[in-house]
Parts: sequence; C-alpha cells; structure tokens
Amino acid sequence: MSKLKWQELTPGGVITEPGNSKSYRTGDWRSRRPIWNKDACSHCMLCPIHCPDSSIKVKDKKMTGIDYDHCKGCGICANICPKNAIEMHNESEYK
Ligand code: SF4
Ligand code: SF4
Repeated sequence: MSKLKWQELTPGGVITEPGNSKSYRTGDWRSRRPIWNKDACSHCMLCPIHCPDSSIKVKDKKMTGIDYDHCKGCGICANICPKNAIEMHNESEYK
C-alpha cells in the first residue's frame, strides 16, 4: 500500500469553505442529543447566545426549539441553562 504525503490527501468531509456548513446536514455527526423541556424554559436567551452552531431556534425573543440538522451535540446549552430545561441524551436512542 502506497503512503500519501499529507499534502496529497483529499480534504476531509464536505466543509471545504468557511460558512458552507449551513448547506449540509452536519447534525448527522452528533452522538449526543439535547432535549428541550419547553415547560421549564424561561426564555432567558442564554443558550442561543452560547450555541457554537447557531442551532437554537428563536422567534419573537422566545426559544422555539433546536435545529437538529445542524446541532453537533456539544452540550453547552444544557450546561449553561439556569433552569435545567435542556437534557443531553444518547443520539442512539433516536435512530
Ligand atoms: S448541543 Fe451544542 S450545538 Fe447543539 S444546540 Fe446545544 S449548544 Fe448548540
Ligand atoms: S438557557 Fe434554558 S431557560 Fe434559557 S432559553 Fe435556553 S433552554 Fe430556555
């Protein structure tokens, strides 16, 4: 088997340009899934500010859900929520 130099490798995945991840369902990479309890949510807007993938849906200054097409399951939203309104589950429970 021939060994390639790193410079000869094909760029990994489909994210080859800055900002193009919106065009792909990168949420497929997720192994943990945040589950939102809307009854416990106070709509403090902490999680939309801290989500690194802009995957918290907001309308009229209220949280409306999670964009599972792009959420990577990092768990920041669950850790930062002051109301414990987001709980992380294994993604395998939903496939
Ligand atoms: S788990 Fe991470 S990527 Fe997904 S909604 Fe929460 S903060 Fe955003
Ligand atoms: S951090 Fe918690 S309480 Fe605040 S908007 Fe997000 S889910 Fe709701």
